[in-house]
Amino acid sequence: MSAYDPDNIFAKILRGEIPSTRVYEDDETLAFMDIMPRADGHLLVIPKTPCRNVLDASPAQLEAVIRSVQTLAKAAKAAFDADGVTIQQFNEAAGGQEVFHLHFHILPRHEGVALRA
Ligand code: 5GP
Repeated sequence: MSAYDPDNIFAKILRGEIPSTRVYEDDETLAFMDIMPRADGHLLVIPKTPCRNVLDASPAQLEAVIRSVQTLAKAAKAAFDADGVTIQQFNEAAGGQEVFHLHFHILPRHEGVALRA
């Protein structure tokens, strides 16, 4: 596994160097809207500290992020009047990861509606 790159896109979002639509923040985590949403309300949850993915995460980082993921999954389901929520997470390029700062996707889902490509 490669080292954490402090110039990845989400690190720049954390530092405020590139814009994002922030929807939630606490001491340890940040959530913002995905720039190419695959469902209405598609958002991303990240730790504020450097971490490449789940394979690289400390128990404390995972605990903080999962706590926010649960909070935001419930909030997004209610806000978008969804029937369910898909939570997705990818690790390394071979695992589908494109941005190498740990993140979880939260995708509100409606019966019979497929995710966009
Ligand atoms: P993954 O690494 O989980 O495969 O995908 C990274 C996700 O980050 C994609 O859903 C993509 O749309 C999103 N993304 C990539 N660049 C940006 C950006 O600059 N801003 C935001 N808000 N999302 C981004």
